[in-house]
Formats: sequence, C-alpha cells, structure tokens
Amino acid sequence: MKKPFTTKEKLEEIAREIPTPFHIYDEKGIRENAQAVKEAFSWNKGFREYFAVKATPNPYLINILKEYDCGCDCSSMTELMLSGAMGFDGDHIMFSSNDTPLEEYREADKLGAIINLDDFTGIEDLEESLGYIPKRICCRYNPGGLFALSNGIMDNPGDSKYGMTTDQLFSAFRILKEKGVEEFGIHAFLASNTVTNEYYPKLSEVLFKLAVQLQNVTGAKITFINLSGGVGIPYKPWEEPNDIRVIGEGVRKVYEKVLVPAGMGDVALYTEMGRFMMGPYGALVTRAIHEKHIYKEYIGVDACAVNLMRPAMYGAYHHITVMGKEDAPCDHKYDVVGSLCENNDKFAIDRMLPEIEKGDLLFIHDTGAHGFSMGYNYNGKLWSAEVLLKEDGSFQMIRRPETPKDYFATLDFSPEYRKMFGE
Ligand SMILES: *Cc1c(COP(=O)(O)O)cnc(C)c1O
Repeated sequence: MKKPFTTKEKLEEIAREIPTPFHIYDEKGIRENAQAVKEAFSWNKGFREYFAVKATPNPYLINILKEYDCGCDCSSMTELMLSGAMGFDGDHIMFSSNDTPLEEYREADKLGAIINLDDFTGIEDLEESLGYIPKRICCRYNPGGLFALSNGIMDNPGDSKYGMTTDQLFSAFRILKEKGVEEFGIHAFLASNTVTNEYYPKLSEVLFKLAVQLQNVTGAKITFINLSGGVGIPYKPWEEPNDIRVIGEGVRKVYEKVLVPAGMGDVALYTEMGRFMMGPYGALVTRAIHEKHIYKEYIGVDACAVNLMRPAMYGAYHHITVMGKEDAPCDHKYDVVGSLCENNDKFAIDRMLPEIEKGDLLFIHDTGAHGFSMGYNYNGKLWSAEVLLKEDGSFQMIRRPETPKDYFATLDFSPEYRKMFGE
C-alpha cells in the first residue's frame, strides 16, 4: 500500500499557517533517491543527471539535487534563466528544447549550456542566432516506428514531433563536424513513464549502436550519450517500482557489450529524469469542503485541476489517502472533484475510499513532478503554495500562494484597470 510521507497532525499544523490546498515535498525521500541514482551510475566516470526543470521548477528543491551534482535540463527561456540564476555552470545545463525561438539559443550559449538540437534546421538557426556553432553539440534522435518493451509498454516515436530521422542525424553530424564541432552527443526520449527496469537498457542498445556507427561513418568524436527522461514511477499502488540499481546495471552491461569494444569506453552518460527524481516525493494536500449526493456520490475538495492537471488531462491515476483514516475500510465509492466549471475536474472517479467527512484532509500522492508545474489559472483560480517538509521534521514554505493581486498584475499597464482596483 502507498503510505503518506507525513502524518495528519503535521499536515494540520502546516495548514494552520499555510492554507490548503498546497503541494508538499519530502526532503528525505528526494535525498535518498538522488543518492541512489548517483550510485547506480557511479561505474560511468562522466555520469550526470540533468533534472528536467519543467517537472518541478522550484529552486529550493533543485538546490537539494545540486548537492548530488545534478544539473538542469531546460527547454525554455525562463528555465534557462532560473538555472543560470541558481549558479549552475554551462557543464550543468542541458538545453533540450524544440521549436526553439532563436533568442533562447542565445541565452543558452551565454550560459555555456550544452545545446541539444531537436531538428536538422537547428544548425541554420544556431548560425543565425549566434553567428557561429558551439564546439560541443548534442543531436536528438527519433528512430520512427514503434518502440515496445516486453511488459507491453509501448510508445510511438513515429508519431512524435521530436528529434531527427536517421538520415538527418548522419547529415547533421557531417555538417557540424565540417563547421568545427569537436564534441558530439546524441539524445533520444522514446517512451514516457516506463514502469519497468528494461527501458534505459533497451534505449541504450539503440543509442550506443547508433553512436558507434556515427563515429565510424562520420569520424565525429562522441563524448556523451544522453538517455533523457522517461523512467517511470508506480502511481498505482499495485505497480512494482523501478529499481534504479538494476537499471544502472542493465545499462552497464550494454555499455560493455557495445561501446567498450568499439573503443568508446570513455563516453559519459547523461540522464534527464524529472518524474523519477521528484514524483513520489511530492503530494497535493487538500481539504474536503462539500459532499454532494445526486446520481453519484461526490466529495468536493478545495483543490482543483489547476493544482494537478494529470487526471483531467490524461485520465491519470493518483492514489488518495484520507488522513487519519489510513486503516479504515474503503467501503465508499466517490468521485473526488474540484470546483472548475469543467466536468473533467475530477481527481478520482468511482474510487473506493473510507467515508469522508467535511474537513478531512486528503493526501493526493505522487504529485512531485508534473504536478504544480502544469498548473494554470482557468476560472481565475490561483496558484497554490509549495511546502518543503525537511529531514528534521520542520517545514518551510518554498513558494507562497498566489494572490488576486498577482492574478490581476498583467493588467497593470492599463490606467482603467488600475482605477478599477483602486491603485
Ligand atoms: C519532459 C522531459 C524530460 C523529463 O521527463 P520525465 O518523464 O519527467 O523523466 C526529459 N527530457 C526532455 C527533453 C523532456 O521533454
């Protein structure tokens, strides 16, 4: 069973200072996992995890990962700005963007970041925006077709907008080499939220073989291979969690089989995990404020899909614990809903839970990645606070809740609106 990483008493204590809903993060869990990731790949001399900033763009949390030598994986101007402001040097910033505005290449290059080209036309864009090509470049690969794993997980790279075809990749390497690139990398992201230890090893086989070919055919010097993100977490309590040690060992076997015999035993491995680094160590805490009995039983909570979009967007399952009722029988069937004027604003549908009373705190699990960060302002709803539960049991607000003033701030250019709000 999934257990919350904190207690009802602690959450009530926090809620006296910081209004629900809020996202809470578990420092201890983040640290233990970051350490395990580091150890699982310690056999590779240049290994580095670049945390996918979009998953949880909070500097307090990213600073914890920084202690484990993680870098940042960015894909927008503000993500680059945040990474730069946090003091990450270029070696610790990966710019894996797509459909990239030219000024973002300039910002990335100013920071000395590793630029990962999503498309062949990126070569021209780089020359236009920078006036030159950096000495170190990564190219993103899309093999097309289907990518299937033995447990039935499947994704469809042929249908995805990312990366270059095989032919484009070989041409890009030739051209970039002619233009003076000295260090090359390749990158691919072929399946999302893979709850299996098999994904990285299988992806490694594809990328390592490709790297050997690229180096042999084009003479380009490949210094790193970026396995990107996609390592999954068990959102459902009955799923078996990934074991990062088994994953690291699986990748090592492929590395020794493919890269070492090709004389490429010095290639550094990079990852860009977001979900696996943070997902399980965050939760959305919300209070039941209504019950409604019509054709179904509804529990209305004070959070809504703007605080956690995954269920509404993908029908994603997020486990719910009713705090203080951990051991009560799950003998009530509820739709747990928010207040948006959208009928998909449901955190759970037909979920068996203990009887919920008004005032109960609900702990919605696994919101540490792609949770808060996917938020929005529909229906004029405001962004929630984020709270860090520290290792010593104390807590710290790491983002304040948005206020109506913040919400209206982008109208502040207009004298009429300033008058309306009496400013
Ligand atoms: C979203 C993303 C990631 C992180 O993906 P997770 O599923 O959170 O591990 C890594 N790299 C790129 C380029 C991405 O777009």
